[in-house]
Amino acid sequence: MIPEFIDIHAHVNFAVFNNEAEEIIKKTLDENVWLINVGSQKATSWRAVFLAEKYPQGVYASIGHHPIHSCSSSTDDEDEDEVNKSQEENPNDFDIDYYRHLAKSKKVVSIGECGLDYFHLKNDEDKKEQRKIFIEQLELAQENKLPIMLHIREAFDDALAILKDFKGLKVNVHFFSGDWLIARTFLDLGHTLSFTGVITFTSQYDEIIKNCPLDRIMSETDCPYVSPEPYRNKRNEPLNVRLVAERIAYLRPEPKKEVLKALVDNAIRTFNFV
Ligand SMILES: [Zn+2]
Repeated sequence: MIPEFIDIHAHVNFAVFNNEAEEIIKKTLDENVWLINVGSQKATSWRAVFLAEKYPQGVYASIGHHPIHSCSSSTDDEDEDEVNKSQEENPNDFDIDYYRHLAKSKKVVSIGECGLDYFHLKNDEDKKEQRKIFIEQLELAQENKLPIMLHIREAFDDALAILKDFKGLKVNVHFFSGDWLIARTFLDLGHTLSFTGVITFTSQYDEIIKNCPLDRIMSETDCPYVSPEPYRNKRNEPLNVRLVAERIAYLRPEPKKEVLKALVDNAIRTFNFV
């Protein structure tokens, strides 16, 4: 069965949803919406796979090590999670073999979120460490023929330089936050961009959404963060991806039906759901 919408980047695997995770997933599937739960370190990656394996279809996992967990001087910010802190994982505890093992699950459809985030970093050593961990995950994606769920903040140039060595790898730039020039660079390399509820309360990305080729754009929530209008400041949920998709359709020149179908088709093509 083909879903009506796909949230390609959710965190129902995070502890903030713990008791309600399965209820929320059921509600999402009942509305014919699919989702990918995205891990940010070992525990949350494991839980993404654990949840995905409970369902024959519609729930998938992306596994990886978020760059803000890569170095000792990095701190969680509002984009990350009080939740992850409570899972008491050593931030330096990156272990590629753990992810290699998890990647054996057929429900794992991508590697990430991984990438570079220089926002909090104070020294070059930490940046170097982030790059090393990022490269190991790119190699893992290549090994498993999986796409990358890319998190980039204040590090587009370095990320693009690294990706030059990984031709043929499919990359989705999650929570795209760059300008048109950066968007075009990723698009020219054949990559995709995904957008969150942020686009319902800022017009900053309108032109990028309008100009992006229709076959390279996808919808996500990044829940529990960044709820779209009219649910701002409430905990976000995968079903809100419908509001993100509708906003993308509103901004596009094509008929709404065609855009909504493309958002689903693009996700299916990128992630090869089983
Ligand atoms: Zn995320």
